[in-house]
Amino acid sequence: MTKGQTTHGILKDPTLLVAALMADGWRVIGPKVRDQAIVYEVLDQPDDLPRGLTDSQSGGLYRLEAGQPERWFDYVVGPHSWKKWLFPARQKLWTATRLADAGFEIEVSAIDWPKTVFFGVRACEIAAMTVQDRVFDNGMFRDAAYAARRADTLIVAVQCARSAETCFCASMNTGPGVDEGYDIALTELAGISGEILVTAGSDRGRAILAPLALPSATDGQIAAGPATTAAAAASQSRAMVPDIARVLREGLDHTNWEVVADACLSCGNCTLACPTCFCSDVEDVSDLSGDHAERWRSWDSCFSTDFSYVHGGAVRRSPKSQYRQWMTHKLSTWHDQFEMSGCVGCGRCITWCPVGIDITREAGTFAAHPHPAET
Ligand code: SF4
Ligand code: SF4
Repeated sequence: MTKGQTTHGILKDPTLLVAALMADGWRVIGPKVRDQAIVYEVLDQPDDLPRGLTDSQSGGLYRLEAGQPERWFDYVVGPHSWKKWLFPARQKLWTATRLADAGFEIEVSAIDWPKTVFFGVRACEIAAMTVQDRVFDNGMFRDAAYAARRADTLIVAVQCARSAETCFCASMNTGPGVDEGYDIALTELAGISGEILVTAGSDRGRAILAPLALPSATDGQIAAGPATTAAAAASQSRAMVPDIARVLREGLDHTNWEVVADACLSCGNCTLACPTCFCSDVEDVSDLSGDHAERWRSWDSCFSTDFSYVHGGAVRRSPKSQYRQWMTHKLSTWHDQFEMSGCVGCGRCITWCPVGIDITREAGTFAAHPHPAET
């Protein structure tokens, strides 16, 4: 099943790959149906992998629906992203215990991460991990737990054969096709023929596929892979404004910030669902005896009241300043900080915003009517 530098085979049933990984001792985290949504959780058995489902998404709306019964991957991203595993929502950093004689003993929390597969990672999600790598594993700025989890995780990607109405990865150059950053990629070919093109992207991936002895893909099947994702890209109706970083830099006093703020509930759903948001708060707690203390890190959000607290009060109290901070950081100042965009076009912030605020629509408003400043 080798062709040039890459390796291609054909798989009829992806649960066989899940079963092989489980038999080899991997913990498989992948898509599962819970509370009528696709979430990323540990798969208990290969049959946990959903089949015959698709999703309907728009501003403030997510519905899981019946799709073609034979197909495996016709839904796209749900409310979870892989950051909940690599950068957990709440994490104990260390425990301190007072010693009998004097002083404290500090026990740093161990990194508990068995060999793990992320199964079903989409292109925008690989791009989001690359964004978070810049934050958590960047030279002298290194989160050891994040880096260890990332290094010990095998990536089984899925090429998107369809886009949701909220997807705009094509305009961010982050999808829907996966080009790099995976160990194995699966492309469910068009139609209902039950053919999944399997591509090895690393030696680790090749070693896992070898015992499966998959039949080789034909040239036609290999060529059908890019055509599948091209069709998904062509179907995307939303797009990010080109040069949005400059548009926002020049529009900090735009009247539209007030218009968005009138609708925004400051609920923070957009930041929690976003696969790249990385802000956290650190809290120290002690017991009543004063002999035992813990330090915890938890996700935070630009929309939390205390997020911008400095001595004397919060700097950003209004929904206008909170939303402006979120959007300008994602799309403009992130470039100054990390030399890339903080948005990968996954559309989660649109779908999971309870009032349907749409980052592409707002970007379009700022670009179409530049510079109307408040009086
Ligand atoms: S800002 Fe919205 S579309 Fe962009 S990565 Fe975050 S959730 Fe996805
Ligand atoms: S933009 Fe939407 S999701 Fe984000 S804080 Fe405002 S209401 Fe909540």
